[in-house]
Amino acid sequence: MANVKLEKITRRFNNSTAIADITFEVPDGEFWVLVGPSGCGKSTILRTIAGLETATSGNLYIGDTLVNDIPPRQRDVAMVFQNYALYPHMTVAENLAFGLQMRKFDRKAMRERVEKVARSLDIFHLLDRKPKQLSGGQQQRVALGRAIAREPKVFLLDEPLSNLDAQLRDDTRAELKQLHQRVGITTIYVTHDQVEAMTLADKIVVLNRGKIQQVGEPQTVYARPANRTIATFLGSPPMNILSATYAGDSFKLGEQFLACPAIIREKLQLREGQSLDMGIRAENIRVGDIKENDRYPLFVEIKVIEPLGRETLIRGILAESGVHISFYAAPELSLRAGDRIPIQLDLDRLFVFDPATGDTLY
Ligand code: ATP
Repeated sequence: MANVKLEKITRRFNNSTAIADITFEVPDGEFWVLVGPSGCGKSTILRTIAGLETATSGNLYIGDTLVNDIPPRQRDVAMVFQNYALYPHMTVAENLAFGLQMRKFDRKAMRERVEKVARSLDIFHLLDRKPKQLSGGQQQRVALGRAIAREPKVFLLDEPLSNLDAQLRDDTRAELKQLHQRVGITTIYVTHDQVEAMTLADKIVVLNRGKIQQVGEPQTVYARPANRTIATFLGSPPMNILSATYAGDSFKLGEQFLACPAIIREKLQLREGQSLDMGIRAENIRVGDIKENDRYPLFVEIKVIEPLGRETLIRGILAESGVHISFYAAPELSLRAGDRIPIQLDLDRLFVFDPATGDTLY
């Protein structure tokens, strides 16, 4: 077992920089998730840790050892990819034993290890089958098992669930979490799926364009995103972003007004006419009631209604402004596309971003 430390890791390909100055340290036994949009450099970081990619500059430590020049095989890391290539001519048991055979394990120890791993992943009954006799989810569990059987110091997973269908993906995700709780191997996991990031991680590292945007516990990053990109990346539907102008103690949204909370006004020292991006998550908006003592209710024209069972997701457009906005409504409300309704924003849950830089101002 080991911690993994990256110190100013940069990787350039020809003239373009895939990752720049990446610095973070995963403590021994923790589960960290690298998350970010396509092309942000997640796989490059993982491949550099595995030794499949060489950093242009920077230092990489596994445990106390500087591994910059140590070849992949000697790093004692196991990597599982999205297209988990199993050996098609071998049985599940032989696939699981493969890494152990290479290390000259004796037969008895090998069999015990394989059976233990197979039990923990619920594939014991499949040990004699060949990969083509397995479902996609079972194959993926064998691929995970093959990596676990080696008991590596570090476990690297690159979008390991992305080939599975939705139900299997949910199940395997939960299994992975339990497995980590049992085995406790230091794990670095790459995904662009924010649900996986939120549910699996001890800490998440949010990346964008090759740079670290924020590192923190999922709940913290969700509640206090450092900028608009992170705010809209974490959470589904994405956080609503509403362009506004500050006018007479209010936010002007198109032709509508929303009272600016005093705390925001004081903290940001807003100027008349200043442009702002306001952010609010769908769960912090509800269908309003014009009778309430609300100075300026906002009106929305409903475009799409998506019943989700426990609640209904409404996608609409802020009246007279054309800005898209999503929010939840109780399923028993009878709403229809085309309706014009008032909404109420939870002003304690407002974010304010700098429209030019995207930085979180409040
Ligand atoms: P995805 O989620 O789509 O897999 P990613 O976040 O894993 O993306 P990387 O695969 O790490 O992103 O790629 C980061 C950047 O580096 C991209 O712009 C990519 O085009 C570039 N890149 C990666 N590998 C190479 C290579 N071998 N040669 C040139 N450019 C590369």
